[in-house]
Amino acid sequence: MPISYPAEGSSGKTGLWRTERPVVHLDKCIKCLFCWLYCPEDTILRREDDYVYVDYDYCKGCGICAQACPTHAIEMVPEPSLGSERA
Ligand code: SF4
Ligand code: SF4
Repeated sequence: MPISYPAEGSSGKTGLWRTERPVVHLDKCIKCLFCWLYCPEDTILRREDDYVYVDYDYCKGCGICAQACPTHAIEMVPEPSLGSERA
C-alpha cells in the first residue's frame, strides 16, 4: 500500500515536467503489478480488475515502470508538444 499520494506543489502538477509518457498496452499486461510497486511517484493506479493505468497529472515520465515490466507492456513515447496542455 502507498504511504503517500501525489499532490500539487508550488510549481504545479509534476506531470508538467514530463518529456516522455508511459503508455500501457493492456493486451501485453499480465497484471503482475511490478510497475505499480516500482513507480516512485505512486502514479501507476490499479483498476478493480488489477489492470493498471497512469495518473498523467503527476507521472514524471522517469520510465522506471517500463523498465520493471517483464512483458514490455509499457512503452515510453515522446510528449507530442512540450509546453502545451496535456491530458
Ligand atoms: S514513468 Fe515513472 S513516474 Fe511515471 S508512472 Fe512510470 S514509474 Fe511512475
Ligand atoms: S509491470 Fe507490465 S505486466 Fe505487470 S502490471 Fe505493469 S504493465 Fe502489466
